[in-house]
Amino acid sequence: MIELSHISKSFGRQEVLRDISLSVKTGEVVVILGPSGSGKTTLLRCVNYLEKPFGGTIAVGDFRLDCSQAKRGDILKLRRKTAMVFQQYNLFRHKTALENVMEALLVVKRMPAAEARARSAALLDKVGLGDKLNEYPSRLSGGQQQRVGIARALALEPEVILFDEPTSALDPERVGEVLEVIRDIAREGITMIVVTHEMGFARDVANRVVFMDGGVIVEEGTPDDVFQRPREERTRQFLRRIT
Ligand code: ADP
Repeated sequence: MIELSHISKSFGRQEVLRDISLSVKTGEVVVILGPSGSGKTTLLRCVNYLEKPFGGTIAVGDFRLDCSQAKRGDILKLRRKTAMVFQQYNLFRHKTALENVMEALLVVKRMPAAEARARSAALLDKVGLGDKLNEYPSRLSGGQQQRVGIARALALEPEVILFDEPTSALDPERVGEVLEVIRDIAREGITMIVVTHEMGFARDVANRVVFMDGGVIVEEGTPDDVFQRPREERTRQFLRRIT
């Protein structure tokens, strides 16, 4: 479903991703773990070209992009196949919850307004916000705002949803409600790549855990493999620090 091949990225002289290859199957939930600064977010952002990789290829479904000669049309095509859920929610402040979700359908999918409204309301209901359709982000908790962000991502019916530390800006008591929604979506078989520090979530929900450090994938495997039987010393050190 998703195939990243030989992705590299630098910021100035700092090499942040070094020749990374990763494939994700349809319906798979891949959790990316690793210390801060290891390149996790940059890798995720490369998947939908919010960061431009220096080389390599990105394939999503039947679409393949050669990063050394990507054109604007190709990048838009890639973006239509992916949706991102951001750490800071990235909602429009002057739009209600409903309008935030509708925007994606009106602009990206060019859906008629009545249909977009009905579909957005249904998605907000699905993430437990059926009674908050007309609230502005400033009147919603962080957890509720993030659930709007998730509804918006679902609205696009992407082939993969990319979650960039979706709970790290939340108060601790709000983390659970957002993870619960992500867990429900995962059960529906939507393909997802999740960058998170939530080890419990990784253990329960991931089909595969990828451990990154220093811009490379150090090891990957099932949660059991990586948490119970890590092969690499760097992984063991990381797990000792965080558990
Ligand atoms: P992680 O998600 O694992 O914490 P990131 O991918 O956010 O790591 O960052 C990897 C490295 O790249 C860090 O050293 C970070 O400072 C640097 N970096 C990330 N984005 C930028 C940027 N836009 N400009 C310059 N440096 C960046």
